[in-house]
Amino acid sequence: MIDDAKILETVIAEFEALTHIPRPSGHERAVSDYLKKRFTEIGCTVTQDEALNIIAEMPATTGCEAAPRTILQGHMDMVCVAKPGVIYDPLNDPIKMLRTEESLTADGTSLGGDDGIGVAEILTAMQYTEEHGPLRAIITVDEEQGMSGARHLDAAHLSGARFLINCDSEDYHIMTVGSAGSVNLDFSRMLTRRESALPAYRIAVEGLRGGHSGERIGDGRGNAIRTLALALQTLAGHGKIEIVSFTGGTARNAIPPTAEAIIRTEIGEREIVNVLVEEEKRFHALYGTADPAMKFSLSSVENAGRVIGADEQHDLIALLTLLRTGVHDMSRLHVDKVETSANLGVITMDESEVHVQFFPRSSVNERLDEIVTMAETLAKRTGFTLTVGAKSPAWREREHSTLVKIMGEVYAAQNGGAAMTVESIHAGLETSWHAAKNPELDMVSIGVTAHGIHTPEERVEIAAIVPEAKLMMETLRRIAEEKS
Ligand SMILES: [Zn+2]
Repeated sequence: MIDDAKILETVIAEFEALTHIPRPSGHERAVSDYLKKRFTEIGCTVTQDEALNIIAEMPATTGCEAAPRTILQGHMDMVCVAKPGVIYDPLNDPIKMLRTEESLTADGTSLGGDDGIGVAEILTAMQYTEEHGPLRAIITVDEEQGMSGARHLDAAHLSGARFLINCDSEDYHIMTVGSAGSVNLDFSRMLTRRESALPAYRIAVEGLRGGHSGERIGDGRGNAIRTLALALQTLAGHGKIEIVSFTGGTARNAIPPTAEAIIRTEIGEREIVNVLVEEEKRFHALYGTADPAMKFSLSSVENAGRVIGADEQHDLIALLTLLRTGVHDMSRLHVDKVETSANLGVITMDESEVHVQFFPRSSVNERLDEIVTMAETLAKRTGFTLTVGAKSPAWREREHSTLVKIMGEVYAAQNGGAAMTVESIHAGLETSWHAAKNPELDMVSIGVTAHGIHTPEERVEIAAIVPEAKLMMETLRRIAEEKS
């Protein structure tokens, strides 16, 4: 048996070699060439595809040839950021790795432990697992920017294998078994403009917390755009209102923390205030726990400009109040995990056009299809044009996974019987693209415990390096006992 010190020093040495090669997303030629050489040195037959992905085949150890093939997968690119004041050229400067008792960090920059440490674990497991079936390493390019490596990977490289272990997660104690797909939906409509002499006001929604629409959508936070649309709809029940502008949000995948409208109206200022007070109460009854600081502000506006057509205004408010933003469905497999959500992310408006960005996510592809159909109907009914943009598939959790069972048993044996946390995430992973190309693959995603990824504070926990390697190696040994 190989001892723990040898495993630790091998993983760190393999990782440190990667830190010497600049490797921001989209600039992977040098690191891809290095990995081609390195996997060849350890006994693999290596293919470098046109995208510069590396596919490395390692034969089974003697006697284990009949075992099912396992793919070990990571990515070679990294997010390159530096602390303010640090001079750093990601295209030319190597990372300066620092090692303390507890952690690996970098000197003033991101470390690239995401996913260099995963690649180093794969290289180590391939060298030192004493009994294993046929193995294939797939190390992709450009995970961090657009997953173009995984997207363009030939499906042939994902066939002929039963298991896939993705090594791009960030917690030794967690096994990820599903991830969400998404689709970009854009509603747009041309606007007409006409003069109006009614007094003008600015109404703003402020103080919401917002947040990433994958990570925070299940927290019960309010959506500023929807909140404002509902308030305008209520106001329209009190008298004539005319919209001059309606804007809000910053990004498709961020819950909008603010929104504002300029309206002209015959309703008196005091009555508007009363309506907004009632709307605030309604908001706080629904979202007050997660978003206690939300409030409306009202001010009068001089020279507000022309208003949009009455039909356009009616249709716009209908669209914004009917689009279902927030959680659609919770997971049936995991407590407190979101399966399907959508985020009403951005509304922009100029003199001649209004544009609304909507971003559904789901771990079930068919649910995304349903939302697209719903959006098409809604667009037709409200006179908007719907553009269905970039789509990424979901990785749907299997109900009976041999790999989850084996790895869970290995983890429990390593941790005094404790159960490994099993979860699906409400964000995208490269495994989504693998699942689309080979739905039969039994996959998990794991990783060495790390903190502050994509920041100059990135830190890998040294104490998790050996347990993670042994989790992978013992899982491969157990797979070698399976019949293919
Ligand atoms: Zn990563």
